[in-house]
Parts: sequence; C-alpha cells; structure tokens
Amino acid sequence: MPSWYTPFKRGWHALLRSPCPLCHANRADEQLLCSDCLAALPTPPAFELDPDFMVLYAFYYDKPIRELILKLKFAHSLADLQLLAQLMTARLVPRIIDKPELIIPVPLHPKRLRSRGFNQALELAKPLGNALNCPISTAFIKRTQSTKAQSSLRATERVENVQHAFAVIQPIPYRHVALLDDVITTGATLGALKHLLQAQGIERVDFYACARPLG
Ligand SMILES: [Zn+2]
Repeated sequence: MPSWYTPFKRGWHALLRSPCPLCHANRADEQLLCSDCLAALPTPPAFELDPDFMVLYAFYYDKPIRELILKLKFAHSLADLQLLAQLMTARLVPRIIDKPELIIPVPLHPKRLRSRGFNQALELAKPLGNALNCPISTAFIKRTQSTKAQSSLRATERVENVQHAFAVIQPIPYRHVALLDDVITTGATLGALKHLLQAQGIERVDFYACARPLG
C-alpha cells in the first residue's frame, strides 16, 4: 500500500465513525454515546407487579433513548442495536439478584420479522445472556397475531389486543424465566405473557426491558 494512502484511509475511517448522536462530540468506537452523555442518563427504579414478577428497565423511554430506539428500529442499524444492547446489559446486570434460568426475547410476528430483518428483542438479549451465563431461546413462544399498536387503543382494548397474540409452541422446562423486550408501553402485554407462562407451570416470571415510559 503506498504511504500516501494511510492518512487518506484514516480520514475515511473517521468519516465512517459518526460522532455522539446527542451532542456531536467524539465517541469511542465501542460506545453508542460519548462518555458524558452516557453518565447523564437517569436509571429508572425497578418495580414489582407482584412478588413473583420483578420488572427491570435500563432507561426511561424519553430523549435521547427514545430517539435512538426509533432510529435503530427504522434504520435497521444492527451495529447500533448491538451497542445499545451492551449499554443495557451494563445497567441491568448489577440489578439482577436472582438470576433466571432462561431468557425469552418477546417474539415479533413473522411478517414484521421479515420486513425488519431482525428481532430487536433477541439482539438486545444476546450480551445480557452472555453476562448472566443464561441461555436465550425463541423456541418456546410465538406471536400468532400481528397486534395493532397498543398506544392507539383504550385500556380494555389493549388487554384484548394482546390476550391471544402469543402462544406457547412447546413445554418450557424451567422454573424461573425472564422475558425481554426493547420497550414496554403497557402492562397488558406483560400480563398476557405472564399468564401464558404461569399456565405452563413456571413459578417466577421476570421482565427486563431496555426502556420504560416516563409516566
Ligand atoms: Zn454526547
């Protein structure tokens, strides 16, 4: 390679590595945001729906994480999604006291999976599964209906919308399972999935998500 090519190549490399999407400062290759923006993100508190159902979130679904998640979903940016997954893992791992035996990423409807090319919940689950040394599986639950956007529905409609949206494909031979999704906007989805798993004899169902709504 000629010597004049080296700075040229470095220049292209710098162009390809985009700056922090929030403040436009430089960011390290392996970080989604610059260190200052990372440190400024608040951590939402955990909550329990009941003693057998712990819900943990890494972030609030608000600026800037909301914009990042939307961008990742619609820009189909797998590389950025993997960075967000690492960020989420770093936040969640110290808060997980009772480790699950299995992580189940909330499934997408096959139609949506085809159009998007990946299930963001599965991608988010991978580094967390590694860090917890916990298997991840999409082989147990499937989404049987392409549900309407929950945000467009009233509370009673939301419950109906998701009640028959998921089905168990095969018996789940675990006692303690964690579900994982990118964002949870309603308790209706959580409730439907929890009932589905408890009907399989699972004693403890936890839920992990990248972000929770502010309200
Ligand atoms: Zn920044």
